[in-house]
Amino acid sequence: MRLFTFQRAAEVSEAIAAAPGAAFLAGGTNLVDLMKIEVLNPERVLDISRLQLREIAVRDGGLQIGALASNTAVAEHEEVRRRAPALSEALLSGASPQLRNSATVGGNLMQRTRCAYYRDLATRCNKRQPGTGCDAIGGWTRMHAILGTSESCIAAHPSDMCVALYALDAAVRVRGPSGERELPVSDLHLLPGDHPEMEFALGPSDLIVSVRVPLNDLAARSRYVKVRDRQSYAFALASCAAAVQAPGGVVRLARFALGGVGTKPWRVPQAESWMQGRPASRETFTRAAEMALQGARPHRDNAFKVELAKRTAVRALMLSAGAQA
Ligand code: SF4
Repeated sequence: MRLFTFQRAAEVSEAIAAAPGAAFLAGGTNLVDLMKIEVLNPERVLDISRLQLREIAVRDGGLQIGALASNTAVAEHEEVRRRAPALSEALLSGASPQLRNSATVGGNLMQRTRCAYYRDLATRCNKRQPGTGCDAIGGWTRMHAILGTSESCIAAHPSDMCVALYALDAAVRVRGPSGERELPVSDLHLLPGDHPEMEFALGPSDLIVSVRVPLNDLAARSRYVKVRDRQSYAFALASCAAAVQAPGGVVRLARFALGGVGTKPWRVPQAESWMQGRPASRETFTRAAEMALQGARPHRDNAFKVELAKRTAVRALMLSAGAQA
């Protein structure tokens, strides 16, 4: 690890003023990890862990979650478990209990890819060092993305929580030098395109202060399904957060987002609207899953993800609709 300057902010305004050129430190589970292996080398680290941003509350028809609420606190919160179960299930499927106790919601939203080449300084990586190339393309690609990829980067997005937030239509509240704004969580993460080093739609002084999850009948029916190599502490090969309302066995509303397969959580609104008015059946959900996977571009080791993601989506949709999986 290289030398850096350490500062601690006591107020949000203080953090924003001191932010340019610094890396925000909250739970540290991702940043410190990457600093130790010298993938990230900030000259200044700004500790924001003492800011008053831990509240989890139901307000104005939605769930307000402070950016510093721990993954454990959110996953175990009674209102989250009852009214947005996919969010709780997604969080509990991620990392280990120790990591979930330290990791924060803001940090989870900002977590970096687990691409093995990104973490290996001996390899070429456009995300770590722009313009150098990508050794994952043509390399070992079992854990890489098949959707949203580019000629510059095929890294999969690692978060489980974000997949649930996408399906639940969550929004992120950001404070910066010119005030506060809200953006849909799906706008926070950028596709790699020609610039995989640009990962977030945030300015250098922007700080995520909270997340808002709308609470409604759809959210209350949401479920999360994750397929991975082992039952704990493994990233998704494929996952899906789904929420289906199907009174009388006919789909009224449906949302689903895929994880483990995209360079960001993957949602296809056309596939969701296509389900409306159709039977809440395996056939309907299979067709919707196929629509969501259209455009998938597998590489040498991950063609299996196309079928796996479809089956994972069907299972999540069936569970949420209350049908037999
Ligand atoms: Fe880097 Fe992306 Fe290529 Fe991985 S896939 S080596 S993160 S450019």
